[in-house]
Amino acid sequence: MATDYQRRTAITRLDVSAKQSTLLSETIAEWLKGCQLAADIGWRNEVRSKSDLQSIAYDEIRENTDLKSQHAILGVHQAADALSSVAERRESGHEVSKPVFSSRSMQFDERTMTVFDDGEVSLSTVSNRVRCKLRLPSETDGYQQKFLNSDEWELATSTLKPRGGEYYLHLGFRKPIDESSEEPTPENRTVLGVDLGIENIAVTSTAHFESGNRLRAKHRQFERIRGDIQRTGTRSAHLTLEQRERREKRYTRDELHKISRAIVEEASSYGCNCIALEDLEYIRESLPSGKEFHQWAHRKLVEFIEYKANEEGISVVFVDPAYTSRQCSECGHEAAKNRKTRQHFHCQNCGSKANADYNAAKNVGLAAVRCGQQPPQRTGHGQLALKSGTVTPNEGFTPYTPSAGIEAEDTDKSRCS
Ligand SMILES: [Zn+2]
Repeated sequence: MATDYQRRTAITRLDVSAKQSTLLSETIAEWLKGCQLAADIGWRNEVRSKSDLQSIAYDEIRENTDLKSQHAILGVHQAADALSSVAERRESGHEVSKPVFSSRSMQFDERTMTVFDDGEVSLSTVSNRVRCKLRLPSETDGYQQKFLNSDEWELATSTLKPRGGEYYLHLGFRKPIDESSEEPTPENRTVLGVDLGIENIAVTSTAHFESGNRLRAKHRQFERIRGDIQRTGTRSAHLTLEQRERREKRYTRDELHKISRAIVEEASSYGCNCIALEDLEYIRESLPSGKEFHQWAHRKLVEFIEYKANEEGISVVFVDPAYTSRQCSECGHEAAKNRKTRQHFHCQNCGSKANADYNAAKNVGLAAVRCGQQPPQRTGHGQLALKSGTVTPNEGFTPYTPSAGIEAEDTDKSRCS
């Protein structure tokens, strides 16, 4: 039986020279070309197992790209994974299309990447290896170091992603799950609280905001077109409508996949082993009537988050959402007046001010942390991940160490709409 692994991701920026940056960029371009070639071949031949695809696609990738052998193999495997997940979706009755590799990122494994004790990494490229510094926090207890210095966690497949002119390495770590090692119990979990809404479709307790604007704009546009088409009422008009309906669904699903991926990545990068969401029944009730679209979108988003979290070994729990929007996450004071407007939260007791969705996300997370504690003493060590540290009820706040160079720190509340 294959070993099951618990997986975590630690994100660090890389210190690369202009020349190295160009080389990495070329390598990513070749990688995408290789993955696409393999996906095309697999799609054409209805092959999706890694070994079968490797036997028919490897030579073609080596001939048509500058990828070295191990990257050609990794590319085939990535394409095989994409083809498998497409096949699974088709089997569960979804409409699917050929995987397209357009997102600029690439994978490295232990043969194409070496992390050295001096905090440097060497990456295989289409030419010479690039050796550069990992921009890790200077303190020895940054969450990245916890994994790098650990005897339990081993380096696994990692992802290189360019962003804003910089390169980030999403270092993958894994450790075998054995019978004796415990799954996160309510007492020891680190929770990421998530509030779902319409204007901000998702906000986390670490202040990561996912705007719902694009989805809403697209949906409104579609509703307008639907009105127009229904008025003309011809058969061809209805065919157009069906086509557009399918296109809108596809667009929305893609957006929701991206959002769910971002939430799960946020949980990973803050070392959370649990994501807390409000109970869906309530979310449904709390939406204005005639908002079937948003209900559908929330249900799908939760489904996608659960699926992706499960893959990362992160549990998902649902909490009773009573008062999450009206309670102060700082002092616990609960009053309707705290919620000044839809967007602004202002505690009438302690004066704390916050974006209302952000305050709600912290409450959702705290509810999950509290429900894991033993009622009389509340002695559990569950903690809530916040932007700047973790908080354990009764034990207080632990700041994260100064973390220059951590991508997560780029997430700022200014992104809130
Ligand atoms: Zn307060």
